[in-house]
Amino acid sequence: MAKISRRSFVNKFGMGVGASVIVTTLPSFLSAPEVNKIPDTGKKLNIALCGLGNYASMLAKGIQISEYCTLAGIVTGTQAKAVKWKSQYNIPDKNIYNYENFDEIIKNKDIDLVYVVTPNGLHKDFTIRAAKAGKHVITEKPMAISVKDCEEMIKTCNENNVQLAIGYRLHYEPTHLEIKRMGQEKVFGQVRFIEASLGYKIHDPLDTKSTVNFSDRNEWRLNKKLSGGGPLMDLGVYCIQASRYILGEEPIAVTAQFGTVYNKQIFSETEESISWQMEFPSGAVANCNTSVNYNIDRLYASADEGSFELSPALSYGPFKGKTSEKELKFPVINQQQTQMDEICKFILENKKLPNHITGEEGLKDIKVINAIYKAAETGKKVSLK
Ligand code: NAD
Repeated sequence: MAKISRRSFVNKFGMGVGASVIVTTLPSFLSAPEVNKIPDTGKKLNIALCGLGNYASMLAKGIQISEYCTLAGIVTGTQAKAVKWKSQYNIPDKNIYNYENFDEIIKNKDIDLVYVVTPNGLHKDFTIRAAKAGKHVITEKPMAISVKDCEEMIKTCNENNVQLAIGYRLHYEPTHLEIKRMGQEKVFGQVRFIEASLGYKIHDPLDTKSTVNFSDRNEWRLNKKLSGGGPLMDLGVYCIQASRYILGEEPIAVTAQFGTVYNKQIFSETEESISWQMEFPSGAVANCNTSVNYNIDRLYASADEGSFELSPALSYGPFKGKTSEKELKFPVINQQQTQMDEICKFILENKKLPNHITGEEGLKDIKVINAIYKAAETGKKVSLK
């Protein structure tokens, strides 16, 4: 673990926002940072990022400004990226791996945790290899492409005494912590109905006249073996998550409908759009949509005595929201930095990660996703009881 000189938790978390920002009820880690602070031993957790694509670049930026971890290593299949990242982040040669020699990381005491940011279909293999090398693991959402894969990942991490977290960046975001609190503490009474939608219009890769580059970034997302599915896997998981943490309940049944396929050539393996409905034990219903054919980013919860909503709601923010009584205003944070600091604090303290960010949570989402696909394919309600 690397040495650091000082920790300025208070300065990092939101105190840089303008005085005009009204901070309503803050989540505990924001309102009382000193209480949650770990002993200043000067330790940082050494992270190796595995898969150096778009999101890994965002994570690297978050890690760079983080209090409790440092970007110490990389795992990549592309030599040119190894050269670029080595110079950009000052990574020593001994901490650079490719997909073939990755298992040698077992001998490297300077890496504490591997963060898997590859296409979804590869999360399982890299997580298992990292766990067998004795490294803690964070894997990106969605956790994997099947229930069996998730179960294997959890089992291997347990057997090797390493912790497994899922990259749920919104679990640390103040606006989301507040909507979770309002829902679960029934601030406006029982939530009866949720609307959650996230979609981005992606460009047609076959349109050669376009100046927008579809790029290889999205190609694996169209390949079912690598993605596990379309926008439901990629974006819909946020709608499932938000519904589950607002209610603090697990869905008991789902119905679902695939949307129109406008481009059959591109969307031959994965869906272009999907809508689904989730029923919860309290009787609450969530109505959700995701698509790569239209832009949408909103969340609405209707409760017995009021409502709350966000739009933008599930993206990288900044989020805008209100309740039936007032505007919701929270400090804008770097979601990746906050996620990394919160996860790393637990690991540095040798504490078990809270259930809501572990592999068990990732597995719950995959079970719901499977049921949604089954419901859309069969046209029938699928029970999750
Ligand atoms: P990307 O295509 O930009 O990056 C994927 C990386 O994996 C690339 O570096 C690519 O070279 C590498 N790779 C390794 N083997 C590959 C293979 N066989 N085929 C294709 N690429 C291969 O994708 P991304 O947007 O960075 O997504 C990576 C992961 O991060 C996904 O699981 C995605 O769901 C997740 N993600 C999470 C968030 C978030 O907000 N938490 C945002 C975006 C992506």
